[in-house]
Amino acid sequence: MDISRLQELQKEFDLEYFPGFWRIDSDADFINSLKHVCIALAGEVGELSNIVKKLDRRLMNLGGSIRDDDLDRLREEVTDIFIYVLIAANLLGMDLGDAYLRRLEYNRRRFSEFKSL
Ligand SMILES: [Mg+2]
Repeated sequence: MDISRLQELQKEFDLEYFPGFWRIDSDADFINSLKHVCIALAGEVGELSNIVKKLDRRLMNLGGSIRDDDLDRLREEVTDIFIYVLIAANLLGMDLGDAYLRRLEYNRRRFSEFKSL
């Protein structure tokens, strides 16, 4: 499924469950919604980081290996992060897929010296 369709699905969900988020009548409303997304995104990155921290601690102290349920929890947090990225993109009125492709091209030029031959 392409990213613009995912953005549409997320906006439909947000309008249905959190209509107040999309009641934007002023710049202050816009910044307030953007602030909410930033805080939520940071929270999800924190959740992912905390799992990584605990896995690192467990592997360092007890050894063993990363289990399937560890990967499931990591994947869940990455998905939560992605959801808030979709919401941020919707709020900013951008096509995330197009923006990604433009940025990928920019990064190809920027990091061209690192390209393996
Ligand atoms: Mg989460």
